Amino acid sequence: MDNEGLYKKARNRLVGGVNSPIRASVRPHPFFTQKAKGAYLWDVEGKRYCDYCLAYGPLLLGHCNPSVVNALKDQVGRGTTYGTPAELEVEYAEMFCDLAPNVEMIRTVNSGTEATMAALRLAKAVTERKEIATLEGGYHGSHDSVLAKKDGKNVTSSSKGVSDEQVCHTRMVRYNDPDSLKGILKDGTVAAFIIEPVMGNVGCVPPNEDYLKEVREICDETGTLLIFDETITGFRLAKGGAQEHYGVDADLATYGKIAGGGLPIGVIGSSRDVMENLTPVGKVYNAGTFSGNPLSMAAGLAALKEVRDGALDKVHANHRTLIKGIEGMLPGDSTVNSAPGMFQIYLGCQEVMNADDARKADMERFWGFWTSMLDAGYFLPPSHFESNFLSVYHDKDVISSTLEAMEAALR
Ligand code: PMP
Repeated sequence: MDNEGLYKKARNRLVGGVNSPIRASVRPHPFFTQKAKGAYLWDVEGKRYCDYCLAYGPLLLGHCNPSVVNALKDQVGRGTTYGTPAELEVEYAEMFCDLAPNVEMIRTVNSGTEATMAALRLAKAVTERKEIATLEGGYHGSHDSVLAKKDGKNVTSSSKGVSDEQVCHTRMVRYNDPDSLKGILKDGTVAAFIIEPVMGNVGCVPPNEDYLKEVREICDETGTLLIFDETITGFRLAKGGAQEHYGVDADLATYGKIAGGGLPIGVIGSSRDVMENLTPVGKVYNAGTFSGNPLSMAAGLAALKEVRDGALDKVHANHRTLIKGIEGMLPGDSTVNSAPGMFQIYLGCQEVMNADDARKADMERFWGFWTSMLDAGYFLPPSHFESNFLSVYHDKDVISSTLEAMEAALR
């Protein structure tokens, strides 16, 4: 069946034809992937796409990387879930703590959403405070307290089914604006400030120099715990994620995506003191049937080993070539933002430092560019509020043909 036929059939039994809403944004309708390898996806009609969406971040090692595939093959014949601890979980946790700064212990869960939900609960318990602070335009998954938006001076729910009361303890601040954070934290009632160190859900917005250091200071002065949501940045910006790349220590960090090597995962990491507040040692409830799932552990461990052994060096070098090439061809009224291994182009907008700036980019021009790239066989995320990603398979040849396609698409 072709893409259009499958989409019609899908909409009959899957809400909107998809299992996560962004996938329905692909124009004129989603294509259905039949297989993937390296930097490429193939749809059911046999068309090949060079993949810069990369499943929205997890695929640092690309599709079907032999390290991940072999680790999975090895595990799958020995069981897919146990309900008991397994040695693999211990090995995974040790490798994780070796790579991630300020992480003495972890709890693995099944998604970034679960990780941020647990981290916020933990922070509220540790500080005995009720409020949390998040970024305007930030994203930390789909649990209630973070489904909030700024409405003038008020914070209101951003989803039907979540009441304004459920977000009444959520405060919101502007990214790259230390004064906005100071104003919110000054009365000492906020348990934790959860921040994407690089905003990856309004495209790609990196921190201004010293912003994260100032954030750290303001949190210290007000007794607020700083949570880095490294779901996207973890194991991408550096072996030790954004904490290492920007040289700023967080009190807690949450991970997902790359940490599972392409299988479902979420991870909460912090000091022993903080982590041992979780059940069964402490009284902060957290549990999951599939938490520490052996397949996620096997794929995740394979990915972490590749990161440990230098996978990022290649990705970052190719990333620099790509960004230089894009900078050389962008029209003067547009800009490209990037952090190692991730980027977004904002057409019709010269500077993007926060969510409000990102909203000023020209949506129509984005879709023109995006469609030309898709026609040329390049699948970019279907929104300029998502980030493009690179994998180890986005090598020199892939980068140089991408730049040719981009030049034509921008003409
Ligand atoms: N935090 C951030 C920064 C994210 O980008 C995402 C997902 N894109 C999440 C949390 C939620 O992760 P998941 O989709 O695995 O629940």
